[in-house]
Amino acid sequence: MKVYADNAATTYLSKTARDKFIECLDNFNGNPNSLHSDGQRTQEVLDEAREIVAGCINAAKTNEIYFTSGGSEADNQALLSAARGLSKKGKKHLITLNIEHHAILHTMAKLEKEGFEVTYLAPESNGIVDPQKVADAIREDTALVSVMFANNEMGAIQPIPEIGKICKEKGVLFHTDAVQAAGHLPIDVQAMNIDMLSMSGHKFHGPKGCGVFYARNGIRLVNVIEGGAQERGKRAGTVNVPAIRAMAEALKEACDNMEPNMTRVAALRDRLINGLKDIPYSQLNGDPVKRLPGNVNWSFEGVEGESLLLHLDMYGIECSSGSACTSESLDPSHVLLGMGVPIEAAHGSLRFSLDIDNTEEQIDYIIEKVHYVIDYYRSMSPYWEDLQTGKRQHCVPEHWEA
Ligand SMILES: *Cc1c(COP(=O)(O)O)cnc(C)c1O
Repeated sequence: MKVYADNAATTYLSKTARDKFIECLDNFNGNPNSLHSDGQRTQEVLDEAREIVAGCINAAKTNEIYFTSGGSEADNQALLSAARGLSKKGKKHLITLNIEHHAILHTMAKLEKEGFEVTYLAPESNGIVDPQKVADAIREDTALVSVMFANNEMGAIQPIPEIGKICKEKGVLFHTDAVQAAGHLPIDVQAMNIDMLSMSGHKFHGPKGCGVFYARNGIRLVNVIEGGAQERGKRAGTVNVPAIRAMAEALKEACDNMEPNMTRVAALRDRLINGLKDIPYSQLNGDPVKRLPGNVNWSFEGVEGESLLLHLDMYGIECSSGSACTSESLDPSHVLLGMGVPIEAAHGSLRFSLDIDNTEEQIDYIIEKVHYVIDYYRSMSPYWEDLQTGKRQHCVPEHWEA
């Protein structure tokens, strides 16, 4: 059986998005900046995409939507804009979480080298930050708070409306990396007091290399890409209209079906959680309830996540042992360590990210094979033997309970 359970890394293009992509490739090949008819027809398609995206997150104006090359670029632009724009007013402090995506963390590190000061808040052990900690970290010279909507590795959903309210009251800009949330959880930038937000097409069944940067009007933006006057002068480069229009179609499809999709996918997630919880000395990472509908992140003591992943792949099960970016190095995930998961448990973790195409049959197959590979690798693991003989201490309780 083939089971794709790595939707947090990327999703497949939906049929609706694919059809729209092809339709645009065939019919709208003009440059939307050209003044002739072909260009203007293409411009209309681009406007349509902007309207759809604005509607899906309840942006007040369509001109608050900028199309980018993806979530990473949007994250970079949000942080650089807030930092560079406000440093002129003496605001040189930024706040974020230690469990953010590297598109945030590496941009923050770059800003630190330029003289900015960054506070990295740690979440509680359930992966969720206490909004009071955010409030307490805000200073006179704070330019921006950037807190992700939902975590890509362990799925915890952050208290975005609460943080938005705090930032509004304190007059600090608020950005959220909503790449994992867009199309999967309801987002309302106005009600949630979100000033800037990042999205990525390929995380909600749209095309890769295509994303959205939402910035409320009135925020001074800094370009990541300099050149022509596309995207109101804030993002140069001829726009990829077919990809953008297909992304908008994918987002609309996801938002139109959000309620039933969330219910169905969360039921699959909980079926998997229930099926894994009898494995001794293992645990679910991240809040069991306030988590993405499709995310299951599990740590098993005495085994290596990479071996499990490769073995499961032989059975046709595709999952992840961390985020795709960290799977190139064998260091354990900064997210799991950042929320206090012991390093030994972080080494033996797997992430299954489910979506609408998964079935109950597939979940039962994952449960069966995970039991098998855990027994197999534990039976050969000197580390596991040390735990059995008491030479080493367990760091995860024998029975995990929600
Ligand atoms: C995938 C992802 C990104 C990066 O998006 P790209 O479009 O691949 O650049 C950023 N943040 C989070 C939380 C993600 O999951």
